[in-house]
Amino acid sequence: MLNQLFIDGQFVPAVAGGTIDVVSPRDGALITRIAAAEAADVDLAVAAAQRAFPAWAALAAAERGRLLLKLADKIEEHGETLAQLESLDTGHPIRDSRGLDVPRTAACFRYFGGMADKIEGSVIPVEAGFLNYVQRKPIGVVGQIVPWNFPLMFTSWKMGPALAAGNTVVIKPSEITPLSTLYIAQLMKEVGFPDGVVNVVPGYGHTAGQRLAEHQDVGKIAFTGSTATGRRIVEASQGNLKRIQLELGGKGANIVFDDANLDAAVNGAAWAIFHNQGQACIAGSRLILHENIADQFLERFISLARSIRLGDPMDPETEMGPLTSALHRDRVLAYVDIAREQGGRILTGGKAPQDPALANGFYVEPTVVEAQPGDRVAQEEVFGPFVTVLRFKTDEEALAIANSTEYGLGSGLWTQNLSRAHKLADAIHAGMCWINCYKRVNPGSPFGGVGQSGYGREMGFEAIHDYTEARSVWVNVDARIAPHFAR
Ligand code: NAD
Repeated sequence: MLNQLFIDGQFVPAVAGGTIDVVSPRDGALITRIAAAEAADVDLAVAAAQRAFPAWAALAAAERGRLLLKLADKIEEHGETLAQLESLDTGHPIRDSRGLDVPRTAACFRYFGGMADKIEGSVIPVEAGFLNYVQRKPIGVVGQIVPWNFPLMFTSWKMGPALAAGNTVVIKPSEITPLSTLYIAQLMKEVGFPDGVVNVVPGYGHTAGQRLAEHQDVGKIAFTGSTATGRRIVEASQGNLKRIQLELGGKGANIVFDDANLDAAVNGAAWAIFHNQGQACIAGSRLILHENIADQFLERFISLARSIRLGDPMDPETEMGPLTSALHRDRVLAYVDIAREQGGRILTGGKAPQDPALANGFYVEPTVVEAQPGDRVAQEEVFGPFVTVLRFKTDEEALAIANSTEYGLGSGLWTQNLSRAHKLADAIHAGMCWINCYKRVNPGSPFGGVGQSGYGREMGFEAIHDYTEARSVWVNVDARIAPHFAR
């Protein structure tokens, strides 16, 4: 078990010798104790990344790409181990870790491996006699802070574009789920990434995370996590005005119109909220139903929710595992009481499952609650298998409800009407909109939010933009410049 920090190409204990217990969400058992990075360890990691930067940035782009492509192959080779590690640590059902997390991680590293030597500059048509060209240069040392909901996949979303563009990285996985990131570090070492190019410092947010965010030698922080922590990171970053990219919370509006294909919509809406136990920033956590189909839809949706197989994440039959921590399970269940206090109706779920086999795990039943648009459960991110149902009469009302939270990340529309679909997709205040589908992601398609869901984009050329600086170079080729100070 890899349970140390990864700094300058070596696995090392923390300077102060502290450790963090990593527990299994399926039964609360201790998996391992990992070294807890603190400020001194982050300083060592940043120094290593700084030393590695000039050579990494100067390496032929195709060589950086080749290492990322080799890593993608290596991840597939070690796919089963990575899938098991991810399920053990996070509670993801093994069918998802095998079928989604591992292939998506490999695909994302592969995409950015292919991208490395296609990061082109441009030539600007300026006045005659001058040549003006723009280069895209790496920023330097990039700090990356990620949450616990998709730790493996986020290694590729974060490190893929940063490394392809020539930056070096210090990544802080969540203290709750550090194992797959450390395993990826080991694979990077095996495929030949130079020492110091990637450093992994698992530790608590208020120590290791805070230090990374305020570090004077870090040029950018790419953060995925809650909106509250995002604000703290912006404050901590002010000392050297580092660049910030924020992927924050969401309260995805998933709107079903009365002309929707109900079979597809019921199934898609269940996937939108219950995949990964609802622990997804883009989850369709507000199910906004046209009044004509609401009752019929709910009958089928609730029946589907009740049939979802909860179980041991290691069992290939399991469709929903436990939530990733006991603390988070309690937070999700607290929202059931909040919903009730405000007059919400619990249509199904709202509690831990009764099955004695699941008693020690951090499970919550798929939960469906009907509420009003202003209620807390319709406004705040619950981040669990908890969907808030709201009803509407007109398209205008559906749009108003969809746009009534401070967030703007994922959104969905289910309708057969082409013009309505495009009109609404245009008007929804969200970084992503899915029409007659939900939660599609691809390494080429920009991912990110608006409003309190953050700024900056992962994936695609947008991500490369966010990990490079534009540098403009002017050459006087043949210009006769009128004298400014005529003598
Ligand atoms: P969190 O904000 O508590 O923690 C995220 C990371 O930040 C962890 O590594 C944590 O250790 C670190 N951190 C905590 N305090 C810090 C501080 N003061 N300084 C620096 N780092 C600090 O979030 P979480 O509970 O781990 O994750 C759930 C949240 O993440 C949800 O709000 C979810 O919507 C969001 N999320 C967003 C996206 C997206 O792409 N927009 C994706 C996944 C999750």
